[in-house]
Amino acid sequence: MNIPFDNSFARLPATLFTRLDPTPVAAPRLLAWNTALAEELGIAGPPDAAVFAGNTVPDGAAPLAQAYAGHQFGGFSPSLGDGRALLLGEVVDRHGHRRDIQLKGSGPTPYSRAGDGRAWLGPVLREYTVSEAMHALGVPTTRALAAVATGEVIRRETDLPGAVLTRVAASHLRVGHFEYFAARGDKESLQALYDHAVARHDPEAANPLDFLNGVIARQSRLVAQWMGLGFIHGVMNTDNTSISGETIDYGPCAFMDAYHPDTVFSSIDRHGRYAWSNQPRILPWNMAKLASALLLLMPDPEAAIPAFTEAVHAMPDRIEAERLRVFAAKIGITTPRPEDGALIDDLLTLMQAGASDFTNTFRALPGNDAKDQIADREAFLDWTARWHDRLAEEPDPHSLMMRTNPAVIPRNHRVEQMIAAAVEGDMTPFETLAAALATPYDAPADDTLAAPPAQHEVVTATFCG
Ligand code: AMP
Ligand code: MG
Ligand code: MG
Repeated sequence: MNIPFDNSFARLPATLFTRLDPTPVAAPRLLAWNTALAEELGIAGPPDAAVFAGNTVPDGAAPLAQAYAGHQFGGFSPSLGDGRALLLGEVVDRHGHRRDIQLKGSGPTPYSRAGDGRAWLGPVLREYTVSEAMHALGVPTTRALAAVATGEVIRRETDLPGAVLTRVAASHLRVGHFEYFAARGDKESLQALYDHAVARHDPEAANPLDFLNGVIARQSRLVAQWMGLGFIHGVMNTDNTSISGETIDYGPCAFMDAYHPDTVFSSIDRHGRYAWSNQPRILPWNMAKLASALLLLMPDPEAAIPAFTEAVHAMPDRIEAERLRVFAAKIGITTPRPEDGALIDDLLTLMQAGASDFTNTFRALPGNDAKDQIADREAFLDWTARWHDRLAEEPDPHSLMMRTNPAVIPRNHRVEQMIAAAVEGDMTPFETLAAALATPYDAPADDTLAAPPAQHEVVTATFCG
């Protein structure tokens, strides 16, 4: 197997990372391999489990753990970093895009703090499944290249089977990378990081304000897409907010089944800071942290404050416009008008009142079957009349809705059932789920994959693992 590495981060100042090889594991066994992604990355030959377990460092790799900080649930942690991950290196893919290849669960690093540097099978398969589903849904995201069982036991509340995920990203740069050097007043490293980030993500940016606006634009679109899918990231800390605008860190994330705007799954999100409806409000907060760090790169930071503040203050309107566009498309409207906001909100209110299934209600709209999903039939008929009036002006609402409302999402109970089977050595549910999620806008062959959980199957909490 050959991976055509072309590393650039490893050449940056040594303050940005620690060079370190992965810690070998007892018995690497390949569980999942993403053939299409491997081809896109130019990886030749059959997958070598020893490489993706960290037992063999492949030719051209320069493994390293990145340093970053982060605001976690509002509080600043000056030293986080890759505590259980290592960047193997970068490749330039078939489309000319630079991509990171990272092992997650590859052993302790100087940034591990109290952690063991490892991952167990559950979160590895969860991230594999959900990140690939996000990609198929059309949402920018890190990807999953491989999942390998380690043959070792991981100690959590109980003993669990260990695994390593190979993750691919446009980069693993986070808001927290910038905060790390800003907090230390290390302008030289901050500048080197900035130059690297600009080259990778915003080659057109003429200055840190342009760069900030680039990140804001990508992240605003991203959060609007999450909203439109009922996706709750769960841990929107600044160390989990990417510079590339990709979804990163599939820890306690979840898609909601029954619609309620305050839905929270994450077991560590006790106050609902990252509830579904709070996500658009948290993003400007996170971007303010990036803005503060970038200010240090300005020749006169004090004088630059108003312009940077303005960029952040413009965000709520911008995110709302993105959200409106996403939800308008879901009800068949190509270009939303301001008054369409009420149409969307009124539908959501009806859905909330009856705890309608988020995914299936929207999916039923094009076939005019959504009345079965809404408790208040009469109010829904009134809404439908208004909606049909509006749709009369649209060229092809049906196909727009079929492209924007998935039939199948990675429902929590199916993900949990898939993990339980994998722990018992049965990868069939993983394969079945992956196959359905690869084409989420088509009705799945197994229609139970589109069904909400039965009462006894409902998952109420998700964990970081
Ligand atoms: P997260 O909450 O997943 O964003 O992780 C926050 C920080 O904890 C990051 O620096 C991770 O690298 C680190 N971390 C999470 N799990 C582990 C683990 N099992 N061992 C070492 N570090 C970890
Ligand atoms: Mg993280
Ligand atoms: Mg995590």
